[in-house]
Amino acid sequence: MVGGGQLARMTHEAGIPLGIKFKLLSDTPQDSAAQVVSEVVIGDYRDLDTLRAFARGCDVVTFDHEHVPTEHLHALEADGVVIRPGPEALRHAQDKGVMRARLDAIGVPCPRHRIVSDPADVARFAAEIGGSGAGRLDEGQWPGDVPVVLKTVRGGYDGKGVWVVRSSEEAAEPFRAGVPVLAEEKVPFVRELAANVVRSPHGQAVAYPVVESVQVDGVCDTVIAPAPGISDALSTHAQQLALRIADELGVVGHLAVELFEVRDAGGAPAVLVNELAMRPHNSGHWTQDGAITSQFANHVRAVLDLPLGDPRPRARWTVMANVLGGDYPDMYSAYLHCMARDPQLKIHMYGKDVKPGRKVGHVNTYGDDLADVRERAAHAAGYLRGTITE
Ligand code: ADP
Repeated sequence: MVGGGQLARMTHEAGIPLGIKFKLLSDTPQDSAAQVVSEVVIGDYRDLDTLRAFARGCDVVTFDHEHVPTEHLHALEADGVVIRPGPEALRHAQDKGVMRARLDAIGVPCPRHRIVSDPADVARFAAEIGGSGAGRLDEGQWPGDVPVVLKTVRGGYDGKGVWVVRSSEEAAEPFRAGVPVLAEEKVPFVRELAANVVRSPHGQAVAYPVVESVQVDGVCDTVIAPAPGISDALSTHAQQLALRIADELGVVGHLAVELFEVRDAGGAPAVLVNELAMRPHNSGHWTQDGAITSQFANHVRAVLDLPLGDPRPRARWTVMANVLGGDYPDMYSAYLHCMARDPQLKIHMYGKDVKPGRKVGHVNTYGDDLADVRERAAHAAGYLRGTITE
């Protein structure tokens, strides 16, 4: 597995009962997964020689993140290394411009968008989507109050690399990174959803229940499974959309499709695709304790081309709350309190150094009463972070 983050750590954990031997390419020995995997290579995933030496002897190579350069993955494939998901699929999760172009081509609904070249071009895009006389604006003039979402096509995560801008002055910042910039309409979404699916090389695929993902300051805070109040029709539609994307793009392993729930012109619920992630994803962490087979176990099965496990939920409701780094109280007393308060609580900490706002763990709760399940998750996450003291 390439990348030593918490996703690799939890994927490794899911492989243990199957007796699967992991080898990890990690940036540092302190990385979350490097602390627990027995065979760790410390090295730079951007260096082809390092990747080649690492991949030697591996039956299959998979990832904790999407940042390995595509040309290196092609070179490894030419060496005979089995890579899952493969570089041609992974490109769509590496570059938001490539992803949007492909989703357009296969008719998947997305926010209106286009690649923009400079702040004046962003103003033109705002005019196009604002419908206030495209082409008649002076250079840099902004059409009333039309917010535009700008994203660097590569390298963003947890809201970094995403800006909401309302003027040409504000639009200058994203261009400073020297990476192409994608402009999107700011979608007036009702809420954010995620459709998680897993696909094997054989083409077997499973779909998890569609979840609601609650973001705070651009970072996922809470995930509710299933999305409260979602109709069977919208849920099935979102699952089918995700399965179709997995199939069209040739994804192997876990695919998270981040969605905006919107209202169509007639007021009916609909979805637009925001993002794709081709690896286990934060919106699927609830499956560790809330589904018959977790996203991590199914990712392992998929990349090894084993039959996939049942994705159905074990409980009426499961809620996942992320634990962010904060004013950490000492962990032992936090555990004492959380475990005593809620014997059903499932705690997953990643062994990471605490930095403010950094994801350092998550908790899962489940049960029949959604308000109670949410309260228990929020309390535990807040207590572990140190924002709740009783
Ligand atoms: P990343 O996952 O790379 O941080 P995303 O593209 O998922 O970036 O954007 C992060 C968050 O920004 C989304 O979860 C959503 O809340 C908001 N966002 C992104 N694109 C749009 C958009 N076109 N309209 C409205 N909000 C958006």
